[in-house]
Amino acid sequence: MSDRQPQFTSTELKEWQQSLEEADRHNILCHCRACDHEWVASKPEAYVCGSKSVEHIACWQFPDG
Ligand SMILES: [Zn+2]
Repeated sequence: MSDRQPQFTSTELKEWQQSLEEADRHNILCHCRACDHEWVASKPEAYVCGSKSVEHIACWQFPDG
């Protein structure tokens, strides 16, 4: 019987932080006001419909819930 808790190794911690940073880079919610299309991108970008009326919202700005 062992009651040792699994712990993160420094390597696992590093990988976890990297995956968080990765998610951060793809966390911009884009919303096209012209066609009402929504998508997530790594940077503010225009939709292929060509409309310049696109809203860019960083996902981390959304409160939980
Ligand atoms: Zn559009």
